[in-house]
Amino acid sequence: MVLRFAPSPTGPLHIGGVRTALYNYLLARQQGGRFILRIEDTDQTRFVPGAEAYIIQSLSWCGITFDEGPHVGGPNGPYRQSERKDIYAQYAHQLVEQGWAYYAFDTEEELEEMRQRFEAAGMVSPQYNSITRTYMKNSLTLPLQEVQERLRTQPYVIRFLMPRGREVRFYDEIRGWVSFHTKELDDKVLLKSDGMPTYHLANVVDDHLMGITHVVRGEEWLPSTPLHVLLYEGFGWEMPKFAHLPLILRPDGGGKLSKRDGDRLGFPVFPLWWQDPSSGEVSLGYRERGFLPEGLVNYLALLGWHPSGEQEVFTMEELIAAFDLSRVSKAGARFDYEKARWINQQHLRRRSVADLVPQVRVLWEARELPPISDTQLEALIQLARERASTLPEIVDAVRFFYAPPTHPLPETLSAKLHSPVLALLPTFLLELEQVSEHTEPIVETTLKGWARTHSLPLGKVLLTLRLLLTGEESGPSLYAILVLLGAAEVRRRLQIALPVYGVSQRL
Ligand code: GLU
Repeated sequence: MVLRFAPSPTGPLHIGGVRTALYNYLLARQQGGRFILRIEDTDQTRFVPGAEAYIIQSLSWCGITFDEGPHVGGPNGPYRQSERKDIYAQYAHQLVEQGWAYYAFDTEEELEEMRQRFEAAGMVSPQYNSITRTYMKNSLTLPLQEVQERLRTQPYVIRFLMPRGREVRFYDEIRGWVSFHTKELDDKVLLKSDGMPTYHLANVVDDHLMGITHVVRGEEWLPSTPLHVLLYEGFGWEMPKFAHLPLILRPDGGGKLSKRDGDRLGFPVFPLWWQDPSSGEVSLGYRERGFLPEGLVNYLALLGWHPSGEQEVFTMEELIAAFDLSRVSKAGARFDYEKARWINQQHLRRRSVADLVPQVRVLWEARELPPISDTQLEALIQLARERASTLPEIVDAVRFFYAPPTHPLPETLSAKLHSPVLALLPTFLLELEQVSEHTEPIVETTLKGWARTHSLPLGKVLLTLRLLLTGEESGPSLYAILVLLGAAEVRRRLQIALPVYGVSQRL
């Protein structure tokens, strides 16, 4: 089994592209096959600098690796179509010789004139096809001598000669039998006047030369497949198997998920940070939003593929074992950011705390928070990760640690402070300072014992103390908060807070 991912470097890789690469990768690894990266950069007008490096970097972050490609080499190179230019012309001319293609000499103005003429005659979006070609300047309509003269002196393109009156049928591994009639298809350009191939020619020639056995790609390429099938026929080559993946739909309403939807609804559509080289606009990716690569990969795997059992959380190894093209749906897959977050949370919980320390430290330092030891950071991560779906949410969840509240609290919160607790808190502080060891169980026993001694309802004690120390009504366990802050910091915060609420006793 030989598979390929064949992106065009026309911009940053969208998560839909990551999913296509992922499905190909899973199949290749599952079947012990090979996986090739091929850069389809024949359309020089759409080339974006940095896009190829971005694609490689993004996939590598996701853990998607290639056996062959421009970055790793291999026996089927070069892997950039722009470096294979000479290969394609020869195949295009072969098709002309065999009667599957022809030369066309029409200028842009002539093409435009044809469109206008046929539109005026009532044709909807006229194309260069089996009807219109007979009115144009090409090797089918011009005398042989003139053709030869023009070939020597003029720019020309090679067009595919779409046969008349044929039904083209092919089997799609996801959709079953698909059929198109050639009257719906036009005479696509195969070789451009600058000698560069178009996508169709280069794609088919390379899939053949690279020995691709399975073409797994997005649904948007389905309408191009009948042309590809005919090209295989024209060349007399064996066809690969085809599978067209469902579109990724926007979360609200129909239509393909675009960057605009992500901006509008507040989620990334790129794996990594990207700066548009022409506008300078910066888009954050899943990595910057605090996703783990395995979280994103797991979510994308489920976007269109339905595992046979109940399991939803998969490592890459598990995905490789479980993935199955026959369980990929035909219908578009609706993007669900909340689900992506949930899946990421499951992976956050699976990581060891020590493993997360360096990543959280980067965020900690980026926010210029006070210096913190690895042990403290580990304790904070342990505490916060049950509540966090992404890495920055871990830092948000321990705000209490680095951002003491300002007193008085807003009226809605200060109304919840219990006066008897406020009045007696100085005595708790003394007890806290005397405990032998600052561990959660010991601090818990101390606080509960103190509340009992003074007949204070525990719920009110916990809420009052939490509000004074953190300014928030809910959050991680208060006992853990007391341990993490330490008695000295608890004293400092109470010294500031209590007088604000009228407790004048000196601490
Ligand atoms: N270059 C095409 C793209 O950018 C590849 C389509 C295919 O896989 O055949 O998506």
